[in-house]
Amino acid sequence: RLSRRNIGWVMERTLSSAVRNILKQAGQIADSMGYKIYAAGGLVRDVLLGQESLDVDLVVEGDGIRLAQELGKIYDVRVRQHPKFGTAEVVFSDEFKIDVATARVEFYAYPAALPQVESSTLHQDLYRRDFTINAMAVALNENSFGTLIDFFDGREDLQYHTVRVLHNLSFIEDPIRILRAIRFEQRYGFKIEPQTLKYLKETVRRGVLARVSNERLWEELKHILLEPEANSMLRRMGELAVWPDVFPRVNYWEVEPVLKDLPQSMRQISDWGMMPLNSRWLVYFIAVLHWSDTGVARNICEKYGISKRQTEKVLAALQGWSRAVALIWKAPQYVKVSHLAKVLLQMPRESYPMLLAILEDEKLKERFRQLLNIIEDSKPKTNGKYIKHLGYRPGPVYREVLDALWRERLDGNLRTEEDEHAFVRDYLARVTKRSE
Ligand code: ATP
Repeated sequence: RLSRRNIGWVMERTLSSAVRNILKQAGQIADSMGYKIYAAGGLVRDVLLGQESLDVDLVVEGDGIRLAQELGKIYDVRVRQHPKFGTAEVVFSDEFKIDVATARVEFYAYPAALPQVESSTLHQDLYRRDFTINAMAVALNENSFGTLIDFFDGREDLQYHTVRVLHNLSFIEDPIRILRAIRFEQRYGFKIEPQTLKYLKETVRRGVLARVSNERLWEELKHILLEPEANSMLRRMGELAVWPDVFPRVNYWEVEPVLKDLPQSMRQISDWGMMPLNSRWLVYFIAVLHWSDTGVARNICEKYGISKRQTEKVLAALQGWSRAVALIWKAPQYVKVSHLAKVLLQMPRESYPMLLAILEDEKLKERFRQLLNIIEDSKPKTNGKYIKHLGYRPGPVYREVLDALWRERLDGNLRTEEDEHAFVRDYLARVTKRSE
């Protein structure tokens, strides 16, 4: 029943010429060594979806490491070897590496244990993968280049938008696949196939996810938080009762309204020109934890080995948001801008999309935008140099004067640089008198 369709022309259209060249080169090396070679997994899936892919995962029926070394020689790049696993990595750059594996089968000695490796064939290599859509391969040898190898009807599942495991013990074997199923389902707008969903729920119910190491859990979770559809993935994790395992003692339904609006808020803030894109995951992470108390949040940060700096950001956001929201709610005439600015600046920028989502009302959102603008525009032009120029010796008084100056600027009391200078001279004169 194995389909022998050729997808060479789709590869030609979707893959970059650099990737295509590497695939052809690998095929020729394999020919010269008498091996069979395939690209498998994500690349085949992406190509069939008509998407570009940089995810090159080669499977060799033969000595994978030898082949990787040869490939590395031709491109003059480094090769990392893992003889114990029969795998190697050809490192083209920090962003672009390709994996080479020797066709093998993994036995799971007991659920969630580390895989043991034994040499075998392509079928077995594909059989140990997570879902049918990820378990296809394409031949790379010259005379069969582009032949699709699809033992488990992955192509049909792609066509019918279905995430399906290869066998009933799949989630027990490796519970991280629960999160991966949700990730692929939501990323592509697919559906987890009913029988697969039954297995998934059963595995969740048995608490098997708790056996996955925190490192692997975090690796997958961070991947999810960086996806454009992160909020629907988190929602699905809520529906499928995965949250207690992943975010202990955090209730999804309490934070759902904010998570739902987060993508739009992120877009808005980035339109205002102030979203640091490299910490997108932290934006979600903060929103997930914002309703929790500090102890719960701290535990989760520790569980996932979040750095001290980032943990502090999370905690500052938790401590600050309700005060910030209350102040923005108040009529402007009753709140000094300098006071609000201080509260906002004590919170990390990654918490601003969440603030925006909590504000809900369009007028309040607009007020928040104006505040951020005022803060940005109010940085005084005057700095320590001017104080020095007046003849004061550097010391704590510098900080004090500059802080006071900034507050005055925020409250709109000083417009020109001359105003600032007059304020600084005045302030220093008062301070000097105070200390006499
Ligand atoms: P992405 O587009 O997110 O990178 P991907 O499918 O390429 O998706 P990887 O994590 O790079 O994801 O995995 C590469 C391939 O390895 C997958 O396509 C799948 O075949 C296999 N795989 C990865 N993780 C697992 C797992 N936990 N269990 C079984 N197979 C897995």
